[in-house]
Amino acid sequence: MIENSGIGDRLIRAVAKDGGIRAVAAMTTNLTTEARRRHKMSNLTTVVLGQTMTAALLLASGMKQPQARVSIRFNSDGEFGLIFADAGFDGTVRGYVDNPTLNPPPSESMSLDIGKAIGQNGFLQVIRDVGYGTPYSGNVELVSNEVSENITYYLVSSEQIPSALLSGVFINDDGVEVSGGLLLQIMPQARRDFDLLEALDGRVRSLDEFTSLLKQDISLESILEDLLGDLGLDILPEVQPLKFKCRCNFERVMGALRLFGETELREMINEDHGAEATCQFCSEVYRADRQDLEKIILNLKETSESS
Ligand SMILES: [Zn+2]
Repeated sequence: MIENSGIGDRLIRAVAKDGGIRAVAAMTTNLTTEARRRHKMSNLTTVVLGQTMTAALLLASGMKQPQARVSIRFNSDGEFGLIFADAGFDGTVRGYVDNPTLNPPPSESMSLDIGKAIGQNGFLQVIRDVGYGTPYSGNVELVSNEVSENITYYLVSSEQIPSALLSGVFINDDGVEVSGGLLLQIMPQARRDFDLLEALDGRVRSLDEFTSLLKQDISLESILEDLLGDLGLDILPEVQPLKFKCRCNFERVMGALRLFGETELREMINEDHGAEATCQFCSEVYRADRQDLEKIILNLKETSESS
């Protein structure tokens, strides 16, 4: 038996029923841990962001273009503020929560509080960007307190793909014990097979304890085997490594600093001897010193003279 622990974050794809069913499963423990460390997140926000990042990776894995990306945005009246995750077909993901240190009061159970923190009134937006042209964007109203139930509802109602999505994060005293997810989708050729749809629905419901299977160190392959083994399951050999990775860099931060204009940049030089900028998506801190800022001012002058 293959075990999950020690292998690292990965995503596997499978088909069953002659391609009528597509399945993707992911282990995301390390990248959820990395997000928690970078944003100094509480247990509560780690669970929610881990689930959202996992879902974004599962959706991105179904895109066809190597440069394609999927972003998920929960915008609601809940205490989290905005929850954002952005994943690529290449297995990279980044994300943040507006209020990373939010914690439930000690008396309340975490699952109750996730609902309160996500909020009831709001929207889920999913953007699929193939890397050129206008990205495809869909919105649904929130229908549940759960990350994966809202995303399943989006897939079924907005993209009209019969789908089941599960994502779970379990936290212990040492941090993230396990994080992962599973997405099942029914392809058009199988959609008239109502017996199959019903059977799958029952099986997915029985997978409610997905996170506890992962906790028991049962591999993604075994979980898929249990779920679809009698339906001609074919697990594809390619294993996609996954990681938390942002697209920010020093040059982009310098580009953003240009927007302040010469007067404010001069103030930064005189008062602070430089500037500090934190990337919203990954909390990486970039420091621009006096010379960096002088360079931007010089560049601003050159650009304005030549235009
Ligand atoms: Zn970043």
